Amino acid sequence: MRKKVIVFSQFDQEIQARLASRYQVVVLNPKAGDINQQIRQEVIDADAMIGAGRLLNESNLEPAQKLKIISSVSVGYDNYDVQYLNQKKIWLSNTPHVLTESTADLAFTLLMSAARKVASLDQWTKQGEWKRTVGTAQFGQDVFGKTLGVIGLGNIGAAIARRGFYGFNMNIIYHNRREKLDIAQPLNAQYKSLEELLQQSDFVVVAVDLNQDSQALMGKKEFALMQKHAVFINIARGSVVDEQALIEALQQKQIFAAGLDVYQREPLQESPLFQLDNVVTLPHIGSATAETRKKMAELAYQNLIDALEDRTPRYLVNSNFN
Ligand code: NAP
Repeated sequence: MRKKVIVFSQFDQEIQARLASRYQVVVLNPKAGDINQQIRQEVIDADAMIGAGRLLNESNLEPAQKLKIISSVSVGYDNYDVQYLNQKKIWLSNTPHVLTESTADLAFTLLMSAARKVASLDQWTKQGEWKRTVGTAQFGQDVFGKTLGVIGLGNIGAAIARRGFYGFNMNIIYHNRREKLDIAQPLNAQYKSLEELLQQSDFVVVAVDLNQDSQALMGKKEFALMQKHAVFINIARGSVVDEQALIEALQQKQIFAAGLDVYQREPLQESPLFQLDNVVTLPHIGSATAETRKKMAELAYQNLIDALEDRTPRYLVNSNFN
């Protein structure tokens, strides 16, 4: 009997067809009713799951009897209850590295857009507000030669720092839970406490993974430490930021601007952020280029078939169940 694979979110059609040529593939459809109910029903006899962007935990995985792997088409894995997966001896794999440069490009796009008011001035121009030469209200902040503070100098954080260092002659400072000398040295990046980084940066970019220590890492106190002309960028996860505190900092012009790709609740439907012209809001598109999404799908596919064909997948989040 063919092994059963559940596709639990939109997925690359060509790779899905490849999956279907080897396995029995069940594609969940959110329009067909409660998605968690569909998961509970289908997971009973499933061998593998592939997709992204769904909360998978005891509440919907409990009926699984032989699930071997959840292959996530993402690098972040905060949607999954890893402790529960360990308990059930279910592998979780992810897709690191292949999305690093696209996500760093997006972080820099947000940084430049927020610094130079690109999004709001685009609207302003299209609305016919450009009637005479621009004034101070349209002025932005220089990027070249400024101080870039990276919170979370990991794969993506380092790629952002490289853009700042080599492309914009920026002074790089960073904060991690542990110093990253190997990444920092070529960029002449100095390690700082979170407080020092916030006080000294012209641009603060958050690129941490979401974990117990990074939950609500940026709150009222942290935004108050930032400089008035500073720009805040978040491409990590919404829950790293106390969103209400950020909204207040932007409303009160405690900081110059923000650029956001991620939010506490996604999709972002209604928010006071929509009333602010000093924030650029994007719909979680860090890795969303055709090339990168293809590479992520390929890698997730490879992780999945490795598991189903009794090989150890290359990118396992949890490999030791004891
Ligand atoms: P990574 O290589 O694991 O880097 C994460 C870094 O964050 C690590 O260096 C880690 O170092 C640091 N970190 C973790 N907790 C911290 C804390 N409390 N304070 C300071 N630093 C902390 O992962 P990556 O590939 O760069 O991806 C990072 C995250 O970006 C992903 O987990 C995902 O959530 C997000 N992401 C978003 C998008 C998007 O579409 N917007 C796309 C891709 C990824 P220490 O453990 O030493 O502190």
